Amino acid sequence: MPADKPLTDLQGVGPRVAQRLGGLGIHAIGDLLFHLPLRYEDRTRLYPIGGLRPGERALVEGVVEHAALVRARRAMLVVVLSDGTGRITLRFFHFRAHQRQQFSRGTRVRCFGEVRAGYQGLEMVHPSYARLAPGRDVPLADRLTPVYPSTEGIGQATWIRLTDQALAALRDGQLDLEELLPGAMMRNLRLPTLAEALDYIHRPPPAADVAALTSREHPAQQRLAMEELLAHNVSMQRLHRQQRERSAQPISAAGQLERAFVDALPFELTAAQRRVSEEIFRDLSASRPMLRLLHGDVGSGKTVVAALAALRVAGSDLQVAIVAPTELLAEQHLRVFTDWLAPLGIDPVWLTSKVTGKPRQAALDAIGGPAQVVIGTHALMQEGVRFRQLGLVIVDEQHRFGVHQRMSLLEKSQAGQQQAHQLIMTATPIPRTLAMTAYAGLEVSVIDELPQGRLPVTTAAISNQRRPEVVQRVAAACGEGAQAYWVCTLVEESDAIQAQAAEAVAEELRKQLRDISIGLVHGRMKAADKHEVMARFEAGALQLLVATTVIEVGVDVPNASLMIIENAERLGLAQLHQLRGRVGRGARQSSCVLLYTPPLGDLARQRLDILRQTNDGFRIAEKDLELRGPGEVLGTRQTGALQFRVADLARDAHLLRRIPPVAESLLKHHPQQVDKLVRRWVGDASRYMGV
Ligand code: ADP
Ligand code: MG
Repeated sequence: MPADKPLTDLQGVGPRVAQRLGGLGIHAIGDLLFHLPLRYEDRTRLYPIGGLRPGERALVEGVVEHAALVRARRAMLVVVLSDGTGRITLRFFHFRAHQRQQFSRGTRVRCFGEVRAGYQGLEMVHPSYARLAPGRDVPLADRLTPVYPSTEGIGQATWIRLTDQALAALRDGQLDLEELLPGAMMRNLRLPTLAEALDYIHRPPPAADVAALTSREHPAQQRLAMEELLAHNVSMQRLHRQQRERSAQPISAAGQLERAFVDALPFELTAAQRRVSEEIFRDLSASRPMLRLLHGDVGSGKTVVAALAALRVAGSDLQVAIVAPTELLAEQHLRVFTDWLAPLGIDPVWLTSKVTGKPRQAALDAIGGPAQVVIGTHALMQEGVRFRQLGLVIVDEQHRFGVHQRMSLLEKSQAGQQQAHQLIMTATPIPRTLAMTAYAGLEVSVIDELPQGRLPVTTAAISNQRRPEVVQRVAAACGEGAQAYWVCTLVEESDAIQAQAAEAVAEELRKQLRDISIGLVHGRMKAADKHEVMARFEAGALQLLVATTVIEVGVDVPNASLMIIENAERLGLAQLHQLRGRVGRGARQSSCVLLYTPPLGDLARQRLDILRQTNDGFRIAEKDLELRGPGEVLGTRQTGALQFRVADLARDAHLLRRIPPVAESLLKHHPQQVDKLVRRWVGDASRYMGV
């Protein structure tokens, strides 16, 4: 039976169940087997009731001594069971009338549940149970009992019934689930076959290492994780290889513009910036499109490198598009690039969805004609935008776009047979593990050095109860000529509510800090007003800037050396690191105060601790990955890309180094296997890859 046979071919699956399973991404019989148990219960042996301890989950068997309906605040069915070694009370808060009759005195009952210490000795609340007919011996389970993650309307018994059928078909060789890992890899790593692994995971023997299974570190699960990671790796690589096979316009000579630009910079490029620029230039000079990921920590100076690449391309009479995920970030780029490029005679063209009417037409005309550098949001990817000849696309903050969005931009950017070069920048350092999956097949450049003279920011976590001290600290810093940010954060609230909160804080601080000039920016202000406040802060006319997280990216005021972040406990690591990156840009020793409202949850404490311990964006990103998972780190959770079913990039990082040689050989010699792997593991997410 083919593994993609519909679920309704199984006994007990009608359209309703099929629909519910579909909601979990389970559409075919094969999919059922990749829906792995969350944990396991040991129902292979009976525990004497007298030896039970609270907290244990155990199977017991006994005779009903007594059953009664007890009316406390709520009706409750109470059953007392004895097996000769002791007594245990079963409590049911939800029950049907007939259940009471089931527990007549003397009935043999086998039940499984968590043992608790109750008022009258041990008890189990809502155990699962079965009545045993008198005199009949019912065998115990010979495998551990899996507990599946589920959805409303599908109970554990259903999962077991369905997986039983799928596993039976698998054992009889009737379910055609092909082995896709190459034989050499399986032998080298002594991995179980796919069929063995699935059988073990769904129905482990009693002696199985349950701890390893529960944490998904058992070889049977690692086997699947390996296959999944391999599938993601080859699917991304194949996508990028396909692109690289197209031709591109080679761009080599350094022009006049580039030299003039470097000469005018008020600083020397760092060694890392020079090295990375050379890597980019080498790619640009090839007749295949560049596909390069540029990453480096906050403040490492990626923008200058992007500008150098842009100038080289613009200098060869090809166009450059710079795309950012938000208006604000795009505006920052517009400002910076205009400052840098206008003196060289290049005026960047601006296009977002908010540019309408005549200005839009003018922008579109320029893009189809003389424009050299175009800056904007994803509006640049829309219909109706035609470039004269696009040579380079620079995508900032790639992780906020889905992979498919980037691809659609590329499709647009294709001018005739030639594809534009691509430089993908990300402000979030990407852990090596993620780079090997989400970005597999991209060349990577890392700026691993900060400009000289930067002092590490010192970070403290302070309870909101000590807010007055923090206010005093702001007063002291501003008194010494420094500038400060006070960031008001609210998670997932509307712009309007964020703005209100920031206004209230600005009001409060204005009352307490009468000698200090305070400005306010938030997302609800008109662009012109926002710019005015920012300009005054940059010029030093404002000492304290109260802001919402609109200032998270791009803002660059080197004299600012104190950052206060409110409600820091509610923010993710990446965002906190970005915000903190707004200080520590000048010669002054900078500090960051993470204001939190106690009590701190465990996760929040871990986040604040790691920030206090390190300024290293890579370490922070690794930790972030561990705490949140890759979908969140990459911001792709909503787009559904990079959701792993089995693998966990933090836990399974050690598997990744096995992957490149195997991926290489599959891509080279076994393209059909690659198709099948991708279909099995990447599934829907691969729809944008069907180039
Ligand atoms: P990011 O990598 O976070 O995008 P930016 O490109 O915004 O960093 O650079 C951060 C700040 O450092 C900017 O003010 C930029 O002008 C400055 N900068 C960049 N390169 C250097 C350098 N080599 N020496 C000194 N300052 C630099
Ligand atoms: Mg930047």
